[in-house]
Amino acid sequence: MKPILVVGASVGGATAANTLAQAGLPVIMLERDLSWVKPCGGALPPKAFEEFDLPQSLISRKVHKTMIHSPSERRAEIDVVGIEEGNHDYVAMACREDLDPFLRARAVANGAELIEGQLLDLAVQPDGVEVTYRAKEEREKRTMKVEVVIGADGAYSTTAKALGLDRLPRCIAIQERIRLPEDKMARWQDTADLYLGHDVSPDLYAWVFPKSDHVAVGCGAGPGNTAEARRLLANLKQRIAPELAGGEVFLEEAHALPMHPREHIAFERAMLVGDAAGLVVGTSGEGIYWAMKSGKQAALTLIDVLPDVSEKALRQYEQIWWKEYRTMYRFLQWLQKWGYGNERQMEVFTDMCRNKDVQQLTFESYMHKRMTRVPWVAQMRMTFDILASQVRHYLLPRKKRMPA
Ligand SMILES: Cc1cc2nc3c(=O)[nH]c(=O)nc-3n(C[C@H](O)[C@H](O)[C@H](O)COP(=O)(O)OP(=O)(O)OC[C@H]3O[C@@H](n4cnc5c(N)ncnc54)[C@H](O)[C@@H]3O)c2cc1C
Repeated sequence: MKPILVVGASVGGATAANTLAQAGLPVIMLERDLSWVKPCGGALPPKAFEEFDLPQSLISRKVHKTMIHSPSERRAEIDVVGIEEGNHDYVAMACREDLDPFLRARAVANGAELIEGQLLDLAVQPDGVEVTYRAKEEREKRTMKVEVVIGADGAYSTTAKALGLDRLPRCIAIQERIRLPEDKMARWQDTADLYLGHDVSPDLYAWVFPKSDHVAVGCGAGPGNTAEARRLLANLKQRIAPELAGGEVFLEEAHALPMHPREHIAFERAMLVGDAAGLVVGTSGEGIYWAMKSGKQAALTLIDVLPDVSEKALRQYEQIWWKEYRTMYRFLQWLQKWGYGNERQMEVFTDMCRNKDVQQLTFESYMHKRMTRVPWVAQMRMTFDILASQVRHYLLPRKKRMPA
């Protein structure tokens, strides 16, 4: 059998390659630049560590609280606790410079081949996929023939482009990593903060995610606002200036984040996973877990259907995915529009986050990736709180932002 090619050896690609290699299949990872660090906040649910067998040493910091700041700087402080309090109630903060090399090395140790090179083009043919790429530091193009291609090459996916697919709507997420003096770092000991406001992040939220020895400060700007990304980040830093005082920026990074999933993510001899498939979820912008999950699912489907690599066979991956997650993607997309649509609504969203039932349900589904039935009493309480908040914020004059 010809090898299976995974394009992109980041979280999604390395997970797919590892699953295939563990099953004893010949697999090649093609990664454009092994020294590149994917711009990312690095927030991960505990479930990722269990499900993908990740060592705890990859966690740079665990946080047990999150603080939501409304546009007028009203705050909702939330304990990271699910329906039942447990040991696994935390958000893990990882650094991609640690996570990605770990996943790649594990796939290689299990038998995957790793080539540092860039995919240029591919052509699906009856007897395989002809792939054109350029190995790093070589001028000549090379070709290889593979059985199937798994496109895990992120938001600007060359694989998707070569398959003739449309570009996805994207937001630009921009982030600075800042080393703070010890006394300032104490503020971020155990909390990740999310900031709402059209002046800091009109389409998502802005964030401060703490790592062991620095904080990642970032925000997102959707279509129509992408040219403003730097200004939005400057506004955020201004908003929290006292808390960042004396900090030293050691890395500035930015990258696209898809804002909408693709309906079709499997084709004849090709599948897309992670950001290439647009599988980031709305409202939170969470993409690492979903890239790993889709990478694993695509690989498992392939293992199941081989040697049949027809579109019909590979579409089983897409069918499994959408059967399981369509409702979640739709709900979170709706919630993103509802919650971040305008600043009054962001105030309502903050109030909603103060509701204990909302907090528990949110963290139950985030941490453990399971949906829970909401008891009708809790539904009534949530509905009442939201309606009361809507009345307050739409009928009463808006308050000015209080100092941080
Ligand atoms: C600023 C920012 C903050 C974020 N914060 C979080 C967060 O806190 N938590 C979270 O869960 N998600 C977060 N995300 C989203 C998360 O980073 C992505 O969803 C996730 O990395 C997607 O993984 P992936 O494997 O699909 O693609 P990527 O991680 O984007 O990897 C794609 C890989 O493909 C390679 N590649 C690209 N083109 C080619 C080519 N032509 N040939 C060969 N290789 C190629 C790239 O070099 C890269 O290694 C954030 C994103 C951004 C931009």
